[in-house]
Amino acid sequence: VLDKLPYIGRFAPSPTGPLHFGSLYTALASFLQARSQQGLWLLRIDDLDTPRNIKGSADSILKTLDAFGLYWDDTVVYQSQYLDDYHENLNQLVKDKLIYPCICSRKTLTDIYSGVCRNKQTLPSSPYSLRIKTDNRIISFNDELQGLISYNLAEQHGDFILKRKDQIIAYQFAVVIDDDRQQINHVVRGYDLLDSTPRQIYLQQLLGHVPPGYMHVPVIIDEQGFKLSKQTLATAV
Ligand code: GLU
Repeated sequence: VLDKLPYIGRFAPSPTGPLHFGSLYTALASFLQARSQQGLWLLRIDDLDTPRNIKGSADSILKTLDAFGLYWDDTVVYQSQYLDDYHENLNQLVKDKLIYPCICSRKTLTDIYSGVCRNKQTLPSSPYSLRIKTDNRIISFNDELQGLISYNLAEQHGDFILKRKDQIIAYQFAVVIDDDRQQINHVVRGYDLLDSTPRQIYLQQLLGHVPPGYMHVPVIIDEQGFKLSKQTLATAV
């Protein structure tokens, strides 16, 4: 009889500003869930999107978590330590012919990418992003709070970006590689990321990963109904 796998959860803030009430709430949710299962709670700083990083905010986030008694296990991991790992995994998908270069700009695109660059034979001479081919498979998962979620990626997102034109590894891809490397088996995070989860599960399927369990908790909104966000300069706790 196999022993139950130990619970490994995580909190993965981006260092784009100090911890605000909304991210503190998400941190607390994932912390309590991990502790209630006698699990580990790992901390990862999602610092790949360098133009958005704000100097000093990683340290300030760590200090704040510590001040609120949200003690993490193990040493803090920074995505920027693992650039080779992302590229190796990306190359594997290139070899499998699942990825193609795309020169489309956001301005010319609607929300769902039509795949216009999919069948171009030559490498573009201008900067390009790398997209993953999607198909019509249905991606389903049972969110521990939101219930059964089903997506058809090709219809609902289209081929999506794994490496941006500015050479930065996209969040959707990095998070999958990170969660696998850290053996995360439970992801508790904000509801705003629910829409990203089917893309991440698709990548896990292509890479042969075991998908973690997911729980998407409500996000804290302000009086106008907008999500508290570092990008809109929510105040530090
Ligand atoms: N770094 C992401 C954020 O700050 C969260 C990543 C995740 O939980 O998957 O929104």
